[in-house]
Amino acid sequence: MTTQNLPSQGYAEDIQRVAAALLAHSGPVVVMAHENPDGDALGSVLGLSRALRALGKTVIAPMTVPQYLAFLPREGEISPPLTEWPAGALAAVLDVDNNDPVRVAGADLGSLSGPVVNIDHHGTNQRRATAGVVDPSKPAAAMMVADVVDALGAPWSEEIATPLMLGMLTDTGNFSFDSVTPEAFETAARLRAHGAKIGWLTDGLRQNSPSYYLLLREVLGTMEFTHGGLVVMARVDEAMLKRAGATWEDVESYVGLLRNAAGTKLAVMVKDYADRVKLSLRSRGNVSAQNVAVALGGGGHVPAAGATVLQPYAATRPLLDAAIDTELARAALEE
Ligand code: 5GP
Ligand code: MN
Repeated sequence: MTTQNLPSQGYAEDIQRVAAALLAHSGPVVVMAHENPDGDALGSVLGLSRALRALGKTVIAPMTVPQYLAFLPREGEISPPLTEWPAGALAAVLDVDNNDPVRVAGADLGSLSGPVVNIDHHGTNQRRATAGVVDPSKPAAAMMVADVVDALGAPWSEEIATPLMLGMLTDTGNFSFDSVTPEAFETAARLRAHGAKIGWLTDGLRQNSPSYYLLLREVLGTMEFTHGGLVVMARVDEAMLKRAGATWEDVESYVGLLRNAAGTKLAVMVKDYADRVKLSLRSRGNVSAQNVAVALGGGGHVPAAGATVLQPYAATRPLLDAAIDTELARAALEE
């Protein structure tokens, strides 16, 4: 896999091309994002869907929305995953590489004969859409969607601005990461000026179910410091979920808590699905979570990445430890 984390050269032109492809298409537009959608995935999908609908386009937005984000979509706005493509469909794939069949959710892109538009900010994107804009220097895909909304000439409203602000808030840790560029604040200012309900969003996002805390108690019991204290790891499996009355969704933000362990450079949340393992990785300093993820067949951003290993945890753990060793050694040489 090739990784390209530099800013996109022809960003403005790419945005125009993506908007032109969307405007030129007369059939239905299927707006979709990655599996296990986060705030940026849902926010990007809702923002673009609402803009296209405001322009009179037929839009289908298939997604399985997690409970913690369910306060955002309106009735009927999101549909269940598609089993077949509507005639004459164009796919708009947001916040994920359209070439990654394992990650793209909502419909099977492999069976689509129509055009594909891709808006993404992952450096591991292979950049092969009909019209695409991929810019790893953008902290959120939603920020890029805001530029597409402008290029479409869609009428701005609070309804479009609020979900795009959601994407920016969640992917930037509420504007707390180094990924936040001056332009990110400018886009946020524009969204706010268009009425984005920032207090409503953050209040909604901060609600945790009781099962979140009960599961956290279980997961913290597995916490370990490895690799000379540079790595913090924890694991969750189905049995823990059952005891806590929790769901996999409750696990999503745990890696962010692990990440705050002082002295560590890499946090790993291991989601143990028995037959396979999903890893959530966060890094700081010159350690790259992305390198570890790519070594294990995954991808993402430098400080936040993930991978799915199709083996049980016992077989995955040595591979994980070795990938971490390699990355820590590379980072140490750089210092
Ligand atoms: P998370 O740990 O929150 O699931 O994901 C962190 C980042 O890595 C996100 O940007 C997500 O899109 C990306 N990511 C997570 N898992 C995978 C994976 O299996 N493959 C790829 N290519 N990216 C992933
Ligand atoms: Mn994103």
